[in-house]
Amino acid sequence: MRVKFAVAGALALILAASASAKDVVIHAGTLIDGTGGAPRRQVSILIHDDRIRAIQSGFVTPAGAEVIDLSQKTVLPGLIDTHVHIMATWHGGDPIRLAVTTSDYDTLIDGVNDARATLLAGFTAIRDVGDSTTAVVALKKAVAAGTIPGPRMWVSGAALGPTGGHGDPANGLLPEFGEIPGWRQNLIDSPEEARTTVRRMWRAGVDLIKIMPSGGVMSIGDDPKLQLMEDDEIKAVIETAHSLGMKVAAHAHGKQAIDHTIALGVDSIEHGSYADADSYKLFKQHGTYLVPTMLVGQRVYERAKTHPEQLNPSTAAKALVIGPLLQKNLHDAHAAGVKIAFGTDTFGLSAHGENAQEFAIEVAAGMTPMEAILTATRNAADLIGASADIGSVQPGRYADIIAVTDDPLQQVRALERVDFVMKGGTVVKAGGKPI
Ligand SMILES: [Zn+2]
Repeated sequence: MRVKFAVAGALALILAASASAKDVVIHAGTLIDGTGGAPRRQVSILIHDDRIRAIQSGFVTPAGAEVIDLSQKTVLPGLIDTHVHIMATWHGGDPIRLAVTTSDYDTLIDGVNDARATLLAGFTAIRDVGDSTTAVVALKKAVAAGTIPGPRMWVSGAALGPTGGHGDPANGLLPEFGEIPGWRQNLIDSPEEARTTVRRMWRAGVDLIKIMPSGGVMSIGDDPKLQLMEDDEIKAVIETAHSLGMKVAAHAHGKQAIDHTIALGVDSIEHGSYADADSYKLFKQHGTYLVPTMLVGQRVYERAKTHPEQLNPSTAAKALVIGPLLQKNLHDAHAAGVKIAFGTDTFGLSAHGENAQEFAIEVAAGMTPMEAILTATRNAADLIGASADIGSVQPGRYADIIAVTDDPLQQVRALERVDFVMKGGTVVKAGGKPI
């Protein structure tokens, strides 16, 4: 085996050396670099191959460098969405019909299109927190290899949760559906099952673990307010994942599930609907991120009002309660100084590629446009654990760079109209059109 790896390594080195090195300079009219610093006017971003080499004041053109003129634009780091389901699509709703008529192959093909749409919208990295494990790992590998276009991906594979919880696809169905082998794979009902399953997920190639300590909205019948995983199960997941170098994201609506999961050391709380002042203290004490997922909250709420027949009856009822809570929660969490990372929970109710609509909702909840931008750049990269590579325009980072025409600090919805996208030094969209 050693010999095989050594040969493969040598081959990779030869291939890398033979690829011609490329120097590019971007002339940026305004640069918002994603570090939280003030915007800079008229700077040059020097790029060598797939990384940023330097930032210089004024418009400079090193000999031999290709110039990309963004002198009339605002330039930012590629955006990062830390809560998507890249292979999930709506297809008219009805989760039961979808569950029994859709294979992993179907969802993988949807994922190929959705990955491209997300990248072209300016999102050069995503954290996928719940999709078929083998399919999403395959999608991630294909994007990383350059076989298909898409954002850089950090994936959890299927979410882990208890029998009858938010991640149990057999909720609300006849008992025999609960015995379908593929549907049982990610149900954990003891600390022992938690450890084994986390290790199995790691072996399958995931980057992080997603758990479901509370009930949810889209699932049938379970109660978002209740803590449905026991503390010892949550603890076993977090300890095992951390021992393998993986972070843990927790879907949690109810206060008890939020507070307990933070105290047990989780890295992010997704949704967080019923958090209160004491919860915010815990967030800050443990350095835990909140991923507020406002866009999905708004879209499910609207659908429950206008087309409840497209949702399971229990989902429609839950959405009418949870939607407004998410708004209040983000406002209060932000005011309390909780760390917030951008996440839309895009699974098709808002289309893949509409992710940037989250920014305006963040601003409506009390953030400045700059704070909203930082949730999708600096903070998102920090939550993922990849600040050395993504989330800012600084020397050493990947050349993941976008540009917009209007000033997003004046009108944050400018980020919904991304003109230019570069990922790893390769331009994938220019002049508002895919390359
Ligand atoms: Zn989600």
